[in-house]
Amino acid sequence: MAWIYAQWVFFLHLLLHFLKWPFQKGNRGVDAFLRRYAEEGLLPTSTVDKNWLARFSQCFNCGYCDSACPPLIQWPRERFPGPSYLVTTYTRSTPDFPWIHLDFSLCEGCSNCEASCPNGVPIKEALEFIEAKSAIERPA
Ligand code: SF4
Ligand code: SF4
Repeated sequence: MAWIYAQWVFFLHLLLHFLKWPFQKGNRGVDAFLRRYAEEGLLPTSTVDKNWLARFSQCFNCGYCDSACPPLIQWPRERFPGPSYLVTTYTRSTPDFPWIHLDFSLCEGCSNCEASCPNGVPIKEALEFIEAKSAIERPA
């Protein structure tokens, strides 16, 4: 008897799920996520993002990449804080992304940072990740 009751409840939930589905379309996807978490400033994180974040988090902030970065000789840190700062700070806190006002074009794409990193952190991908995420438009 209990088994039949359980099957019946399961069937009812399944039916309700499919009946509600057409009305939930507007509450799905990236736009819906951004609307829902606008106040917290959260950005959606895909499985691909998570894999990248795991690799970025291998940074232990030794600073070797900064010493090999040409723009840091030319520009003040307010304009280009350097690869170590970007990797350690911005890749971990998506609510901070709207306040990133960096000129990413100052990165010369030389790869010196990655070549000098003792832990193989994909720094250029981190910069691209930050740039792409900070360009996402959020609802007001
Ligand atoms: S690729 Fe960009 S961040 Fe890395 S060392 Fe070169 S200029 Fe600096
Ligand atoms: S060299 Fe690598 S481990 Fe060191 S601060 Fe830069 S990204 Fe982090």
